[in-house]
Amino acid sequence: MTRAFDAIVVGARCAGSPTAMLLARKGYRVLVVDRATFPSDTVSTHLVHPLGAAALSRWGLLDRLTATGCPPIHTYCFDFGPFTISGSPGTDKAPVAFCPRRTILDHLLVDAAAEAGAEVREGFTVEEVLIEDGSAVGIKGRSMYGGSTIERARVVVGADGLRSFVAEAVQPAHYDEKPPLCVGYYTYWSGLPMDGRSEVYIRDGRAFAAWPTHEGLTLIIGGWPYVEFEENKKDIEGNYLKTIELVPAFADRLRGARREARFVGMAVPNYFRKPYGPGWALVGDAGYNKDFITSQGIMDAFHDAELCADALDSAFSGTRPFDAAMSEYQNTRDARVKAMYEFTCQLATLEPPPPEMQQLLGAVHCNQKAMDGFARMNAGTISPAEFFAPENVNAITTAAQGGAAL
Ligand SMILES: Cc1cc2nc3c(=O)[nH]c(=O)nc-3n(C[C@H](O)[C@H](O)[C@H](O)COP(=O)(O)OP(=O)(O)OC[C@H]3O[C@@H](n4cnc5c(N)ncnc54)[C@H](O)[C@@H]3O)c2cc1C
Repeated sequence: MTRAFDAIVVGARCAGSPTAMLLARKGYRVLVVDRATFPSDTVSTHLVHPLGAAALSRWGLLDRLTATGCPPIHTYCFDFGPFTISGSPGTDKAPVAFCPRRTILDHLLVDAAAEAGAEVREGFTVEEVLIEDGSAVGIKGRSMYGGSTIERARVVVGADGLRSFVAEAVQPAHYDEKPPLCVGYYTYWSGLPMDGRSEVYIRDGRAFAAWPTHEGLTLIIGGWPYVEFEENKKDIEGNYLKTIELVPAFADRLRGARREARFVGMAVPNYFRKPYGPGWALVGDAGYNKDFITSQGIMDAFHDAELCADALDSAFSGTRPFDAAMSEYQNTRDARVKAMYEFTCQLATLEPPPPEMQQLLGAVHCNQKAMDGFARMNAGTISPAEFFAPENVNAITTAAQGGAAL
């Protein structure tokens, strides 16, 4: 049977558009659809760590992002109360992070997919994944401009976020699931200069973070444990401001600033889903989700797009069987993110760190190389498994006790 497309990608944001773009650049016939029309915002803050920026650079899109006036972030500061850890989050090749508005970043990605030759249909809602003999073979959807359409492809890729319609249809296995752990609300402020810094403030049961974004605005997200969700949603602004008042010096800075948007926020579940099966694949939040406290989602979506597009290329070109190529995609994804997943879920409880961790953080604070390592670990530039490896921990504590420097 002839199929019009090699791949149909459902969802056109951080995971979907890059997947469509990379497949189209390899010469495949790709349709990418989204019920949104771009530019379009979404409920998400948008820190893109240096390795996320590195992916944009590999794709030839970083210059386009910087041309939009998005300020670079060169230093990550973590204020624990008694001390602050400040370090560089990136590498020599990818030294800085960015915090681009999703209206700008996602639109840029959609345009790049279209430029690569993918057919982009905005305002198109997928209402059914067509399954024949146990295999996904296409979609049925409705355009906001009128009419219901059926499209067929060798593979349907779900890049449709944490409430993935594609995942719902194909019912992948779930593993390592954890319930929502914290809830965060954010808004934008003018008159709060950040000078290229990401600032994160951690207190018992509370945290907030501030990042510079487009148009001279600063994004501030504040959060508390999920058990307080119901109670605190009765007064989101009051609880947000009370969280910031825990750091009087920052609250003083905020008094000179002006709120420019309404509060938005949510809590998310944590899970892995098997990201492939007969005729289908999942990328981004559709396949793996974790709390936003470590801001890994956009960068992870970019990595998924590259891994999945490569795996599909192997399968389409006949270099490898579909299952072998896609199981390598799953294994590589899981191995890359597993330690960060555990670290993120632990952090998202907002419980005070255990005494040994507090001791280690105190030792990190005495030492610039260790502070850079801590910043890089939080950015996902290095894995928590590497940062917390016994040799590294020993080197940090020895240096703090006046032994050999790191
Ligand atoms: C409060 C909050 C803060 C966050 N902060 C950060 C951060 O600072 N940094 C970071 O890296 N990550 C952050 N994240 C995570 C980040 O938002 C996600 O990881 C990222 O958006 C995943 O991209 P995606 O393309 O997989 O999915 P999404 O961005 O969710 O895109 C899915 C798309 O699919 C479309 N779609 C869904 N169903 C259909 C359908 N049936 N038909 C057609 N289209 C459909 C939707 O319209 C949507 O455009 C945050 C998340 C939250 C909730």
